[in-house]
Amino acid sequence: MSIKAPRGTKDILPPESAKWSYMEKKAREICRRYNYLEIKTPIFEHTELFARGIGEGTDIVQKEMYSFTDRGGRSITLRPEGTAPVVRSFLEQKLYGQALPKKFFYFGPMFRYERPQAGRYRQFHQFGVEVIGSDEPAVDVETIILGIDFIEELGLKDFFVEINSIGCPKCRPRYLDKLKNYLEGQEDFCSNCQNRIDTNPLRVLDCKNPDCQELLKQAPKINDFLCAECASNFSQVKEGLDYLGLSYREDPTLVRGLDYYTNTVFEVKSNDLGAQDAIFSGGRYNGLLKEIGDRDIPATGFALGLERLELLLKEEAANFGSDLEVYITTIGEEAEAFSISLLRQIRAAGISADRDYGGRSIGSQMKDADRKNANYCLIIGSDELKSQAATVRNMQTGDEEEVALKEITNYLTKSL
Ligand SMILES: [Zn+2]
Ligand SMILES: [Zn+2]
Repeated sequence: MSIKAPRGTKDILPPESAKWSYMEKKAREICRRYNYLEIKTPIFEHTELFARGIGEGTDIVQKEMYSFTDRGGRSITLRPEGTAPVVRSFLEQKLYGQALPKKFFYFGPMFRYERPQAGRYRQFHQFGVEVIGSDEPAVDVETIILGIDFIEELGLKDFFVEINSIGCPKCRPRYLDKLKNYLEGQEDFCSNCQNRIDTNPLRVLDCKNPDCQELLKQAPKINDFLCAECASNFSQVKEGLDYLGLSYREDPTLVRGLDYYTNTVFEVKSNDLGAQDAIFSGGRYNGLLKEIGDRDIPATGFALGLERLELLLKEEAANFGSDLEVYITTIGEEAEAFSISLLRQIRAAGISADRDYGGRSIGSQMKDADRKNANYCLIIGSDELKSQAATVRNMQTGDEEEVALKEITNYLTKSL
């Protein structure tokens, strides 16, 4: 019998793993430029953190968490998302005592028990940013543009930005009343929607059912109910995006179903992803720190699913990694022994280099060099050792040249 990876997980093998390193490197580089610093939180937390931080009534908490009791009797959960842990850390480490806002980014695996499908896994990876301690619309704009820079620099072009404001606890209840009234007056919403009208009417706006979408066109829009503060906040976000020349669509049905989300919400979507079309999404969660730690501190951020992004990176995975630069083939034991120190010397110069380990014929070694896409092949036998030189073969052109061993590193550095 053979043991397989659990359903909803996957191995990331070379050369695809190079694509992953590339995405991570790019994200780190962008965050450095924007002065966002990395935060690493544990992969598991107390279950209560997510129950409060994501919301008891959500699908994630109700059906999708990997929770277990540890040997000390604690209820532990593998993190299903990155925001609640960052907020927990911010509060626990009393970072509110330092200069604000704090700008963080994180990277890592998340876990949700969902039905696996293209681009969706039970262990998946997210890159996210969180800015804690500022209510400025400029900060929302900054996070959006940071994410855009990231995907654009990875070569994505076919995407669009949707934004909305979902108001605040002062202005939203009046809207929810109106929305509920409207929804209750319609009988043709799907059963999912019918169930949500009482518990969480905002989530009805999320329904993907085309009939429901049609009915929603006539529904009251939150934008007509924003208080003066929220309205001004929203226009400042839009102005910021206008200044940057970033086009966006306003989508009044774009919402987050939980009370602690406020003001700006956004999604950046691809035209290539089908139903699972969001590349990254986020917004303001001014109420979350109060929910988790009883502190009234505003915050905003986004999360981006790397599995989906990887689907969109069309270039061959090989382009993201580097080929082997040098392969050393040897003839005879003496040359093979010598190649060990020569390899180390070449590698120390920053060049990737490898050799054959099987004591195979020169023909097999050349074939191996070819399979590994080596740029250059060094050939060393007893003649070469005597003359203290190596034959250097350019694998692309087939040209060969004698190069003195003490010049070899210089020669390769110049040629590569
Ligand atoms: Zn408001
Ligand atoms: Zn529906």
